[in-house]
Amino acid sequence: MSNLVEVKNLNIRFTGERTVHAVNDLSLSLGEGEVLGLLGESGSGKSVTLRALMRLLPKKRTQISGSVNVLGQDVLALDDDGLSAFRGQTASMIFQEPALALDPVYTIGRQIAESVMRHEGKSHAEAQARALQMLEVVRIPSAKRRLDAYPHEMSGGMRQRAMIALALACKPKILLADEPTTALDATVQIQILLLLRELQREFGMSVIFVTHDIGVAIEICDRVAVMYAGQIVEQGTLSQIVRTPLHPYAQGLLASTVHGAKRGARLETIPGTPPSLDKAPTACSFAPRCRYAQPRCVEALPPDVQVGPNRTARCILAEPIADGAAPARAADA
Ligand code: SF4
Ligand code: MG
Repeated sequence: MSNLVEVKNLNIRFTGERTVHAVNDLSLSLGEGEVLGLLGESGSGKSVTLRALMRLLPKKRTQISGSVNVLGQDVLALDDDGLSAFRGQTASMIFQEPALALDPVYTIGRQIAESVMRHEGKSHAEAQARALQMLEVVRIPSAKRRLDAYPHEMSGGMRQRAMIALALACKPKILLADEPTTALDATVQIQILLLLRELQREFGMSVIFVTHDIGVAIEICDRVAVMYAGQIVEQGTLSQIVRTPLHPYAQGLLASTVHGAKRGARLETIPGTPPSLDKAPTACSFAPRCRYAQPRCVEALPPDVQVGPNRTARCILAEPIADGAAPARAADA
């Protein structure tokens, strides 16, 4: 499977009154037709990573190093024209809050049509037809009538559908989703997740889906990267992460949810709080909260260990394994 996205050794710092090392040495890849989840607590660097991929971080006060390659393009080096072509047709983004994507003063139909004219150079009539088609694709009832609706005239779930229609209007190869269902109530949330999964298959898109909710990741992701304090601490297939998490943080995260806790067991919480991000990590960031911590965990940054094909863990207890062997869990070490 060829990779559409390759991120290597990405570091993102915000400078100002204080420095925040928001993302540290992050590497990930996204294959064709794949849904990769970025899972972690708020403040772990998930949204910042997505915004960097889309070049949405403010230029001032942001320092980025490393490489972001999307379909052969060096995203961090794109000029304004390159960026405009990149957004919409190559990659597009949806947000938790539709207000970040939808303009309150224009109708939904006009916003979609303008995006199609701008990115694809289509005529007004063609763009109008595409707008209607997209509202139908995201199953907005009475689509024709809704073309003339303003965002505030729609319910939360409907606005989310309209934002998805706008994001997909130019048929992007890659969709970046930042907690798009978090603000919705449970029934609407599941409808939107099902819709996204369906559209992902229909359009053959690859998706990076940011969420703090393992239940949401289970619904939509093929593979998961668990983030903690600006780093990916473990990557694997959804079933590997849910059934046999290796990194103690991933184990704690799972044990704190109904999806990962042993049957009949009480849900656990991870004691302590995430570290401040005012310095680049020089040791395991999870050490103060880790029940397996040893002196060597704080002497140096643990390496990102390849523990199997497509599986990594950043922990001294993770061991590279021979093909076919089951990786050891930290709890067994
Ligand atoms: Fe725990 Fe050490 Fe692994 Fe960090 S490196 S997660 S402190 S065992
Ligand atoms: Mg976020």
